[in-house]
Amino acid sequence: MAGFTHLFIPGPTNIPEQVRQAMNLPMEDMRAATFPDLTLPLFEDIKRIFKNETGRVFIYPSSGTGAWEAAMTNVLSPGDRVLMSRFGQFSHLWVDMAERLGFEVDVIDCEWGTGVPLELYAERLKADKTHRIKAIFCTQNETATGVTSDVAGCRAALDDANHPALLFVDGVSSIGSIDFRQEEWGVDCAVSGSQKGFMLPAGLGFLSVSRKALVASRTATHRRCFFSFEDMIRANDAGYFPYTPATQLLRGLRASLDLIAEEGLETIFSRHHRLAEGVRKAADAWGLKLCARAPKWHSDTVSAILVPDGIDSGDVVKRAYQAYQTSLGGGLNKVFGKVFRIGHLGWLNEVMVLASLSAAEMALLDCGVRLAPGSGVGAAIQHFRASAAVPVAEA
Ligand code: PLP
Repeated sequence: MAGFTHLFIPGPTNIPEQVRQAMNLPMEDMRAATFPDLTLPLFEDIKRIFKNETGRVFIYPSSGTGAWEAAMTNVLSPGDRVLMSRFGQFSHLWVDMAERLGFEVDVIDCEWGTGVPLELYAERLKADKTHRIKAIFCTQNETATGVTSDVAGCRAALDDANHPALLFVDGVSSIGSIDFRQEEWGVDCAVSGSQKGFMLPAGLGFLSVSRKALVASRTATHRRCFFSFEDMIRANDAGYFPYTPATQLLRGLRASLDLIAEEGLETIFSRHHRLAEGVRKAADAWGLKLCARAPKWHSDTVSAILVPDGIDSGDVVKRAYQAYQTSLGGGLNKVFGKVFRIGHLGWLNEVMVLASLSAAEMALLDCGVRLAPGSGVGAAIQHFRASAAVPVAEA
């Protein structure tokens, strides 16, 4: 087929040309004397994305799921009680992992379309006078439902209860794209992955840890091997890895961190907000609701849009791909068939978002959704023009 195939799933995201070129290299010797020239600055610079000043970041050759496992197995002990909440496929999978790894999981099930229940967290923490809860978990951005939760609110719940539990955050589809402040919010383990805001292929799992988490890992007794902090620290401090690192991805990471620094994190966050608003205005103009139940849950990296009763969202996604060479995200688990998702994170701009909206709009029409052609795209155009960084010159 002619022309680009468009990628608007919420990760993997589009990769900037500079990053692709930076990875187009011959294999290199990961034990060479010059290899630390690449890795040592990487270990330092990636901390800025997490706003982690006093801890460290581990870069695993894994996906985000590996970094989840690294966090739990290094910092906790079998049977530890943990407080988690489930409101989408990814928070569900994290709960599932915690259960399978042998922790005692106190899980709060929430309506899909909402996020971390801060009041309930606060209640449980206050009631836990003997401090049996060792960690609380927050999925900052539930990619399945397009819901962002309040990480600072989790910290406040811990502080108000004067509770020493660790704070674990899943930032796979948020860190590097929306506001995240590890040091200020007292986050102990922040998990991310290469294929979303970092604008890289999948294949690197990032785990940013606080000093408190590092100290906890020295006495925690869960078995760990591949993900061992100790092995990583010993090798990383010299600029190496305890096993074969994904050298090309590390070269790509160098390029992506440079691009992020060039644009600036705050500018990136406001770009994501502006683009997300365009998508939300489009959904509104189509007469469709977001899965996110209220504006406070709206995600600036992914929108999950509910289709009308009688329409299968899977058909919309299929139609967009087959007829218009455009990948949108489908509905997962409880929202299977009910939502389609537009990923609007990473390396993208207004016109790319408009492309995603035109494909979605055509596919919705083709699947029998009654809407005025051009309505969603038109609403987004109006928003982008009205909020353009380069103002329209006065006539
Ligand atoms: N957490 C969230 C919020 C995600 O969106 C994803 C993947 O999309 C994961 C965890 C799992 O990450 P990975 O697929 O990189 O293992």
